[in-house]
Amino acid sequence: MPTGARVILASHNAKKLAELQRILTAAVPGLAPEQVISSAGIALPDVVEDEVSFEGNALLKARSAASATGLLAVADDSGLAVDVLGGAPGIFSARWSGRHGDDEANNDLLLAQLGDVPDEHRGARFVCAAALVGPDGTEHVERGEMPGTLLRERRGEGGFGYDPLFLPEDETRSAAELTPAQKDAISHRGRAFRAIAVHVAALLG
Ligand code: IMP
Repeated sequence: MPTGARVILASHNAKKLAELQRILTAAVPGLAPEQVISSAGIALPDVVEDEVSFEGNALLKARSAASATGLLAVADDSGLAVDVLGGAPGIFSARWSGRHGDDEANNDLLLAQLGDVPDEHRGARFVCAAALVGPDGTEHVERGEMPGTLLRERRGEGGFGYDPLFLPEDETRSAAELTPAQKDAISHRGRAFRAIAVHVAALLG
């Protein structure tokens, strides 16, 4: 493990790490970006994400990383909750089409499922639960949401996952047409990470 590391993000996703580094270094005096590391390249035990809520799965990942490394650990779990689908795909967002991480197939299936649904009933929200587990066992979970509506066709080349089909509330651009900084400012993950940063500051301060 890199010397000087103080916070570990239980994820291999480099974009999530960069976002967490930006948010935590702004919120925690004296914390340097290189002191916030991801679990890429660090042998952590495999976590079976068998909880049925975003919060539960985020906590599982954070607990495992904290106990394996002794560092303050942060983890997130996120997905898309569609009103007319009763909150689905929810925790199944990454594998809605049956193939884990196949964004194109997931978007095709969602478009087909909502084909007959009129504009006024196409509400949805991205949800993110961010969990923090301290070396002393302290636990916090924060939820962030980004409400909006689902488009009838893909728009934009940026982002990932369901971003091309998602029009955030009060926006004229899809989530895939926003810059990363514009998306961070309103996103479910940005909101959850900023709320978790308050607890990180209290624990490390
Ligand atoms: P994860 O918890 O960040 O791995 O996200 C799980 C799944 O939710 C992803 O594979 C995407 O399908 C979806 N998802 C989560 N956050 C976003 C987002 O910001 N934009 C688009 N899709 C997302």
